[in-house]
Amino acid sequence: MENVDADLAETERIKGCRYCPGKLHRADYKRKPRGMKFWPEDPEDTKRFSFCCDQEGCRRRHTPPSVRFLGRRVYGGLVAVLIPAMAHGLKPERVAQIRQALDLEIDRRTLERWRQWWLGMFVASSFWKEARARFMPPLCQETLPLSLCLSFEVEERRDRLLDLLKFLAPITTPKAWKDLVG
Ligand SMILES: [Zn+2]
Repeated sequence: MENVDADLAETERIKGCRYCPGKLHRADYKRKPRGMKFWPEDPEDTKRFSFCCDQEGCRRRHTPPSVRFLGRRVYGGLVAVLIPAMAHGLKPERVAQIRQALDLEIDRRTLERWRQWWLGMFVASSFWKEARARFMPPLCQETLPLSLCLSFEVEERRDRLLDLLKFLAPITTPKAWKDLVG
């Protein structure tokens, strides 16, 4: 997943500063994803790719989309998607497999927060209003994100999970996140 983030970051870097003709320089955030005991690529803490404009007087920060983070809250993107989906009833074997792979430790309050996020903020977001048209048959909104997981067939194939995270990547930038949560 770090490779996917690196690609997304490179796409952002090439575009240059959004506010002036400046170039973008690396200025990563250090983040420790909550809700996980470890993160496969880096057990201690994980960097979120980020850039700063090199022009004096601008220096604006640019944070590319990510499949590993959701906004500044910095839960692993996986956690945000999968945990509520498990609560809605992914197959027990698949849940066990994911739990084992990620060594997840999630309390009930976190779980409830994420469920509320999916059913409230996410459903109401302009991102989803646009994106949902792509799903045929339409997704069941009451069972999000399980319905999304099933549509992406994450139970059948591991790589489909990455596709799902890529699909969600546009809502992971701090700016998009701020728009989403107000
Ligand atoms: Zn600039």
